[in-house]
Amino acid sequence: MTTTNPLLDFTDLPRFDLIQPEHVKPAITQLLADGRALIDRLTGESTPATWADFAGALSEGLEPFGRAWGVVGHLHSVNDVPAWREAYNEMLPEVSRFYTELGQNLKLFDKYRALFKNEAFSRLTVEQQKIIENEIRDFRLGGAELPEDQKPRFQAIMEELSQLSAKFSENLLDATNAFAEVVTDEAVLAGLPDYAKDAAREVAQKAGVEGWKFTLHAPSYGPLMQYADNRELRARMYRAYATRAAEIDNGYSKPEWDNGPLMKRILELRAEDARMLGFANFAEVSLLPKMADTPEQVLAFLGDMAKKAKPFAEKDMAELLAFARDELGIADFQPWDAAYVSEKLLQARYAFSEQEVKQYFTEPKVVAGLFKVIESLFTVKVKEDKAPVWHEDVRFYRIETPAGDLVGQFYMDLYARETKRGGAWMDEARSRKRTAGGIQKPIAYLNCNFARPVGGKPATFTHDEVITLFHEAGHGLHHLLTRGEELGVSGIHGVEWEAVELPSQFMENYCWEWDVLQGMTAHVTTGEPLPRTLYDKMFAAKNFQSGMMTVRQLEFSIFDMRLHCEFDPNSASTVMDVIREVREEVAVLIPPEWHRFPNSFSHIFGGGYAAGYYSYKWAEVLSADAYAAFEEAGNPFDPVVGQRYLDEILSKGGSRPALENFKAFRGREPSPDALLRHSGMIAA
Ligand SMILES: [Zn+2]
Repeated sequence: MTTTNPLLDFTDLPRFDLIQPEHVKPAITQLLADGRALIDRLTGESTPATWADFAGALSEGLEPFGRAWGVVGHLHSVNDVPAWREAYNEMLPEVSRFYTELGQNLKLFDKYRALFKNEAFSRLTVEQQKIIENEIRDFRLGGAELPEDQKPRFQAIMEELSQLSAKFSENLLDATNAFAEVVTDEAVLAGLPDYAKDAAREVAQKAGVEGWKFTLHAPSYGPLMQYADNRELRARMYRAYATRAAEIDNGYSKPEWDNGPLMKRILELRAEDARMLGFANFAEVSLLPKMADTPEQVLAFLGDMAKKAKPFAEKDMAELLAFARDELGIADFQPWDAAYVSEKLLQARYAFSEQEVKQYFTEPKVVAGLFKVIESLFTVKVKEDKAPVWHEDVRFYRIETPAGDLVGQFYMDLYARETKRGGAWMDEARSRKRTAGGIQKPIAYLNCNFARPVGGKPATFTHDEVITLFHEAGHGLHHLLTRGEELGVSGIHGVEWEAVELPSQFMENYCWEWDVLQGMTAHVTTGEPLPRTLYDKMFAAKNFQSGMMTVRQLEFSIFDMRLHCEFDPNSASTVMDVIREVREEVAVLIPPEWHRFPNSFSHIFGGGYAAGYYSYKWAEVLSADAYAAFEEAGNPFDPVVGQRYLDEILSKGGSRPALENFKAFRGREPSPDALLRHSGMIAA
């Protein structure tokens, strides 16, 4: 080719000033062809199974494709105009096909195994060894080691499971869509805020009906349950919601949407899959690449936490019941009163104005405050830098050592735009690695969806938004402050699932430090820092009902783990029996007998969280316990602890098991005590 395609320019930063949608197809097509040719060559007999000739060459050779497709995916997320969407979607199936081929290429598996058995293996770096072990593990879990005559059955299980998962989600969506409550008398909507009524009015208008139409989708269902004074209305909505995709006749269901038989079949197939791979149950399969070792260990962790949290959950529940009885005249409290009474209780006891708080978190102060936290913790400097960007709002920064050496760079794209996908996320533009010419420095994208500045004043953020920014910056630091020298375990690569959120949630703690808040707030008109009285109210509200929320998460986690390690789908007992048992142990708010929570538990039946739901709590425990090391030192910026956190956790990436990282930092196994304390549940 004589014309140069800027997507194929890997000399330094992505060429956001030049890259256009029409560059995607030729660049990605070429890179995929190069990738396939490379794999053919590397899996051939003439290629020795050594790190340099095989694994290193493969990683090196596929990096350009990963980087270019990363840029395309990023632009699709932050600049989702029709031309970019089309360019991305046109290549997406090709890219997925390539990755599927890669995961099923048994010649690759053979080479990795040969490399593992080679006596030179022991002389490879820790990182290289870890990458090879991870590859072999993933191939094994994909059935690569099964005898030939068992492979068709294994493949059939995988296919049926993926169809069943998809069907589970479809049934739930169909059921969710099938119910609506139309209200024509506005008096019935007493208590609802205007935004909720306006939204319901709009739904009604779109459907061509009179009045207000409420659905079981979260933006409609949530506010109604939280605010509607009308108890019968809440009860009807609650029952419709709780019986979605179940066998129960609720007046709108269809028998074919019942997820009950699907759950049974999914659990049967997962158990068979586990047996074929040589495991006792599916939980063991799920845990193999994770940080936890055994289902028993996870259940013990959850049980311990439940025992400690339950007294606080009972206290929350008692407060709720007393408030309902004494202040609202509700003597026979029902589950459909929970969200409503909670909201009233929150307003009565812990209210503060989010809008007032927002006036203090002005963008320049917040961003400077974040950088100061990073600089103080990790002895680095954050400086403004220059790069081609995809939108004029985007800022670019560099992190340097005190001596001025470059550590990494990052883009920050803070404001919401119509063409940007929702939420906040960190992504990588380039990963750290060793090259012949030295170290390639990492680059990250930090993306948020905050309101842009208006009327010549700086943008103001809610406290939740500030926490979000710190959270994503934590992911960014995991990527940027790594010392990894091999792509497969550098930064966030190869980090076990439960430990991925450790660095991000860790950073959130600084948003609750009084001294930090003093330094990063300035009222948008007066310039005053956040007043102490307002801070105290925010802090009190932070742990509202944390006991109840904790046991609820534990109930789901224990249910999920037991289903996948103890439950026999072909026994006389049912999925509902399992959740009832779990509730008896941990729950404080027991739903009615007809409640069918499992039938809508998409995380484990429709998504990838099977025997993994506990990871939410586990990650919170890790981040709280890591932060507690600073609290014990009496200084959130203690330099010794900060250096150890950087050395043992943040910079290690996936090069060492996360539990070893944690123990090296903390000198012991993780403990849930810090999380309980931070949540206002101080173990007696
Ligand atoms: Zn996160």
